[in-house]
Amino acid sequence: MVFVWLLALAPTPTNAADESFDEWRMNFRAAALASGIRAGTFDTAFAGVSPIPRIIELDRRQPEFTQTFWNYLDKRVTNERVNRGQELLHRHRDVLAAVQRQYGVQPRFLVAFWGLETNYGGNTGGYSLIGALATLAHDARRSDFFRQQLMAALELMDSGDIPTNAKSSWAGAVGNPQFMPTSYKAFAVDFDGDGKRDLWNSLPDVFASAANYLAASGWQGDRTWGREVRLPGDFDYLQSGLDTKMRLADWQRLGVRRSDGRDLPFVDIDASLILPGGAQGGPPLIVYDNFHAIMAWNRSILYAVSVGHLSDRLDGRPPFQSRRPAHEVPLSRGEVMEMQNLLTQVGMDTGGIDGIVGTGTRRAIRRYQSHASLPADGYPTPGLLQHLRQGAPR
Ligand code: CA
Repeated sequence: MVFVWLLALAPTPTNAADESFDEWRMNFRAAALASGIRAGTFDTAFAGVSPIPRIIELDRRQPEFTQTFWNYLDKRVTNERVNRGQELLHRHRDVLAAVQRQYGVQPRFLVAFWGLETNYGGNTGGYSLIGALATLAHDARRSDFFRQQLMAALELMDSGDIPTNAKSSWAGAVGNPQFMPTSYKAFAVDFDGDGKRDLWNSLPDVFASAANYLAASGWQGDRTWGREVRLPGDFDYLQSGLDTKMRLADWQRLGVRRSDGRDLPFVDIDASLILPGGAQGGPPLIVYDNFHAIMAWNRSILYAVSVGHLSDRLDGRPPFQSRRPAHEVPLSRGEVMEMQNLLTQVGMDTGGIDGIVGTGTRRAIRRYQSHASLPADGYPTPGLLQHLRQGAPR
């Protein structure tokens, strides 16, 4: 207790806002009231709220190592989560079917999101929602974004959808599906008809809200997300990645097959081929439009693959068939920076040297691999770093 108290009193050097928290709250209160929030709602919601230093710490945290495919997947799609999800799919089948009829999203996907977001409601977040959002709105780094979230949260409190003492993740995501308040405001649905949209205690509301969000993101209820495939020996890795879309028949013509060797489905749809673990380290996948709808929920490719895979496992399908590498070696931030530095030196611009493998870095890696006649999968590995060290001018 004493320790926490001391932390709360300590100055926060990372806080770049000009205003003290009290000044900021006063100004924000005026703006909130001007936009129609009731004073009573605001004052109740903000009673006892002060900045939470731990949240700034979490916001500034930089991962020490890059995330590897199997490590990410194994943590999220466990046998226990599959078994539990199958039970829940069965237990809630009636409401899930009703939601599917109205929004066109298959139950196994709704349960997969639920499992990944909060372990089926087991972990919906223990921070004060207003405390978390106010901390991040007062902080300078992403002030505008969190100010919007805070305003939406207050509106939801004003309308009675959520209680003024609502809890959230450290970043302000709430309830079973971990919606941000603006998404809650725009997409949450009162499916059980009790007059409020409750993403904590009403599973009908939770499933319908998630389905409504996905439907608005272009979900196609008669399609799946994608599937594991097998690549021909002469596959040109430059054709991989979400930027390239081709008809399934074209992938078939290039020699891509289902993982069991059978022909690809004979359906006239667009697909991309992705290698979430690189050419050597994970399953090659073809992904359809629903994969992009999953990425509208969370922009991480690994997250989207996990949702798709968990939904398949819930449906009784087997784990990925691709052989795992004997061990995955994650790169440290320092190694990624060295890689970015070396790539930039040989004229492959990575769009900055920040230790984070983003789109610019992947593009630069592909160009380098292509020039060096390596499989151009855009995937950073210790082997690639070694190649760069040996080849790059010093
Ligand atoms: Ca309700």
